[in-house]
Amino acid sequence: MTCLHDRHIKPLILAGLNGDNWHLKDYVARGGYESLKRILTENIPPEQIIAELKASSLRGRGGAGFPTGLKWSFMPRQYPGQKYLVCNTDEGEPGTFKDRDIIRYNPHALIEGMAIGAYAMGITVGYNYIHGEIFADYLRFEDALEEARAAGFLGNNILGSEFSFQLHASHGYGAYICGEETALLESLEGKKGQPRFKPPFPASFGLYGKPTTINNTETFAAVPFILAIGGENYAALGKPNNGGTKIFSISGDVERPGNYEVPLGTPFAKLMELAGGMRGGKKIKAVIPGGSSAPVIRGDVMMETDLDYDSIAKAGSMLGSGAVIVMDETRCMVKSLQRLSYFYYEESCGQCTPCREGTGWLYRIVDRIENGKGRPEDLDMLNSIADNIQGKTICALGDAAAMPVRGFVKNFREEFEYHIEHKHCLVPAYL
Ligand code: SF4
Repeated sequence: MTCLHDRHIKPLILAGLNGDNWHLKDYVARGGYESLKRILTENIPPEQIIAELKASSLRGRGGAGFPTGLKWSFMPRQYPGQKYLVCNTDEGEPGTFKDRDIIRYNPHALIEGMAIGAYAMGITVGYNYIHGEIFADYLRFEDALEEARAAGFLGNNILGSEFSFQLHASHGYGAYICGEETALLESLEGKKGQPRFKPPFPASFGLYGKPTTINNTETFAAVPFILAIGGENYAALGKPNNGGTKIFSISGDVERPGNYEVPLGTPFAKLMELAGGMRGGKKIKAVIPGGSSAPVIRGDVMMETDLDYDSIAKAGSMLGSGAVIVMDETRCMVKSLQRLSYFYYEESCGQCTPCREGTGWLYRIVDRIENGKGRPEDLDMLNSIADNIQGKTICALGDAAAMPVRGFVKNFREEFEYHIEHKHCLVPAYL
């Protein structure tokens, strides 16, 4: 967990954290729960909260980047039955480790953000679904929930108002696919975590078939700060269409890997500086800018790119979850893709043929190239298989498996060709 004190960089979610000050009293001392209190004491209309979020241009921080205010406006507030609010803390993408730090070091920001969301959408029950492999963080979040209930920030008639909201934590068992929102809902219902066909979407048919809004942990955690400083001020921290701050989990060959919260639009070179630069002074070779499913970008291109949704898309990749994996000149691109392909092959839920079979085909072809048994036609074959997966599956895991393959082959084709022709790695040859 890393907070920034650079005067040009204003962290919100990570501001003032020291690793131990996660308790409710610490959060309150930092100004926590003030947004919720103000909403309830001043009886602020839900529409005004949603308008504030729209003005903030907050986009979903889990990967899809969908505008949060718009998503909240889809909830049929007057729906007569039960509605649900769900937080997706099923953070399982290789390279991503920001949400676990939020529930570990600033859990009350998430609780307050969810309570505000519930108020804005007229919801009385919520769940935070937490990845099964971070069990200690799940327990931390349970402790924070107890504190919030005891202080009257959760439960019936919150702070003496008419508003009631019951929030519960639930943990999965480590399946990557449960981070897909409909697989998460299935798992939360106690079933096998497999994605649903869409439509219908969760906004109309979600948890237990009821209208449900699902947001990422970081998205909810940003809400109290947005309401504290105002939507337009939050938007102004970033760039047009890319409002506010974002936590980037930087890992790989840098001196100080960790979570850094910076305004969207910050140059990647600045993030590298904050992370201490390349480990051992080596040259940057490649960057995966948005979690392992995002296409890899050549290091020199990334060094000229800003960290926001639009700039990274223009550079040929995506901001995704903000997990930045940095690779130096000693990294073999074939070996890297072999590992990534194995992950997606292993994590496919098996429901649809292009993903179930295709992820295995991709992995086996990359594996044979890595092991000196590649064939000249393999690179076209990889692209063709990726084409036949992408956009043809029930959920985005198929795309997530196909995109890295296309990115690696496109940006480092010469390295793959060298492996195929010479039956060994190119990397030692130039170091
Ligand atoms: Fe399952 Fe893959 Fe189909 Fe998603 S794309 S539903 S993970 S088989």
